[in-house]
Amino acid sequence: MTVLIAGGGISGLALALSCHQVGIPFQVFEASPKLRALGVGINLQPSAVRELYDLGLASELDDVGVALKDYGLYTKRGLHVWTEPRGIEAGYDWPAYSVHRGRLHMMLYDTLIRRAGPQAVQTGWRATGFKTVEGRAVLQLESRTGEAREVAGSVLIGADGIHSAIRRQMQPDEGEPQWGGAMLWRGTTQAKPFLSGASMVLIGHDGLRFVSYPISKPDPDTGLATINWICNLQFDAAQAFRKEDYSRAANLDEFLPAFEQIKFDWIDAPSLIRGASEVFEYPMVDRDPLERWTDGCTTLMGDAAHAAYPVGSNGAGAGIIDARKLVAAFLAHGLTPEALHAYEEEMRPATSQIILMNRTAGPDKILDIVEQRCGGQFEKITDVIPQSELAEHAATYKRIAGTGIEQTNGRAPIVAADARFEPATQ
Ligand SMILES: Cc1cc2nc3c(=O)[nH]c(=O)nc-3n(C[C@H](O)[C@H](O)[C@H](O)COP(=O)(O)OP(=O)(O)OC[C@H]3O[C@@H](n4cnc5c(N)ncnc54)[C@H](O)[C@@H]3O)c2cc1C
Repeated sequence: MTVLIAGGGISGLALALSCHQVGIPFQVFEASPKLRALGVGINLQPSAVRELYDLGLASELDDVGVALKDYGLYTKRGLHVWTEPRGIEAGYDWPAYSVHRGRLHMMLYDTLIRRAGPQAVQTGWRATGFKTVEGRAVLQLESRTGEAREVAGSVLIGADGIHSAIRRQMQPDEGEPQWGGAMLWRGTTQAKPFLSGASMVLIGHDGLRFVSYPISKPDPDTGLATINWICNLQFDAAQAFRKEDYSRAANLDEFLPAFEQIKFDWIDAPSLIRGASEVFEYPMVDRDPLERWTDGCTTLMGDAAHAAYPVGSNGAGAGIIDARKLVAAFLAHGLTPEALHAYEEEMRPATSQIILMNRTAGPDKILDIVEQRCGGQFEKITDVIPQSELAEHAATYKRIAGTGIEQTNGRAPIVAADARFEPATQ
């Protein structure tokens, strides 16, 4: 009676911690030989932060992240379009966090090992496929030396990211993730935080966008914080792109010249870019929504299930919510295909909508509208777009993504604090 989890990323570890919380036996299999703090900045909305708090991780999260205060949109000329408060400042009962993906990942890993023991995660085992045998899930694995092995459990969850092997077996004709023509260059730089000190800003439009936010608190001696930044340029989607790899080092000459103009009295993009310790390039890719996630005793979660463009600050959060919904389904239906179907029925429609919305109507789209209407130059923003349209766009995105204030503060816990799994009912 075990939940097999293929993939020890943010989603897989959130699921493992959630299983441990309620007493469900689980086992994580991770392809990498060793978990390391990889990636750059990501954001967690209060809806996902609430779940990490319910896992008892409030102080750990505060140690690794920065509680965001506000989120602002600016044209490429630095003109202010829109600012909204974030997290507690906006009236949520939980903060919104900006955090280094690797530090969050390692925090989840260290906590899991502390709570469940080092055997909870088997590293160096890559999932290659699955089958259902006599009502049980069988995960097929391969070691780095080519040794093959099969493990059986009650259910198998494919949490193995955008290149999921579990998904590939379910969708053999799907091919590689899809590229819409946007290239991202991501880096972190030690610099003074800008605006409120905990601000996230989007500057520019879809052809040329600069996004930045702090992912550490300022050093008390120097006042410098780790500032995350992302440069986004649009190319012809018909041309070939270099396959995405979160750790591919970038060449500054390929994008820095386009961002020399993003330099105002409160932020200096070229200095941030030049001052970065590491810069990674990444083509912005996603996958089409699927018509089903579940096959026998196996289902998908996180990026394996619903990889979307990273424009709405909800990629990691969506994987955390999946984890909590899966455990709620296990509590209600046991470690059964019925639980997997109940989870899929709730999460697949919602996350499919996010994939489609992030392609055409993410929070950043307001900047494209402003650019189209006035080339990013105006006397008063209200001459270009009414504040009501800005507010409506922001609220609609949050409502569809399930991250609005009422949806977050007003709902019951996904996994009750005193919930315990009852093996006797299995
Ligand atoms: C190295 C890395 C760096 C990243 N950096 C960023 C970033 O800077 N910004 C950002 O927005 N997003 C980043 N992401 C993606 C981000 O973590 C996810 O979009 C989001 O958190 C959802 O997480 P996930 O657990 O579903 O997927 P992921 O975080 O991708 O985790 C998937 C896990 O499964 C493992 N895995 C893959 N294939 C197999 C297999 N066949 N068998 C077993 N294990 C397997 C991977 O090694 C990984 O640990 C990164 C992902 C990775 C893996």
